[in-house]
Amino acid sequence: MAIENLQDALLEELRDVLSAEKQITKALKQMAKKASNEQLQAAFEEHLEQTEGQIGRLEKAFEVLDRKPRAKHCDGMEGLIEEGKKILEEEAAPDVLDAMLIAAAQKVEHYEIATYGTLCAWAENLGLTELAQLLQETLDEEKQTDEKLTELAAQINQQAQTAQVE
Ligand code: FE
Ligand code: FE
Repeated sequence: MAIENLQDALLEELRDVLSAEKQITKALKQMAKKASNEQLQAAFEEHLEQTEGQIGRLEKAFEVLDRKPRAKHCDGMEGLIEEGKKILEEEAAPDVLDAMLIAAAQKVEHYEIATYGTLCAWAENLGLTELAQLLQETLDEEKQTDEKLTELAAQINQQAQTAQVE
């Protein structure tokens, strides 16, 4: 199907990000399990819950457009998750592994921020106010998560600096 206008592009990108959110849901569960720092673990678990809400919001977005919530495989997120998995296979001191988990998680958040930023702008351009608001809520959550990870990294990086493989 040809993408004829900005609304078609918006729909394609919504399908892409729906796939991305579904993929990261699974990965976040594993990341929470692998994290040693309790606050980091809690942060991953909290964002997992948020992500489930974001999927619900996306389903609502499709409803607003009167389309079925059909996901289209997001290769970008697959790549980011693949990279993250390789990190989990490495032998590393717990604090260092936590620092690496944060690095991987922040790449994911930045990727999502880019996507939702574009989607919000397109929805606003098209005068789809309700849609823009839904997407903005998720964009704010992704930004807050990124900031929280930066805060946690400050402490964890410090500990990782002096860590040894046990
Ligand atoms: Fe998300
Ligand atoms: Fe996220």
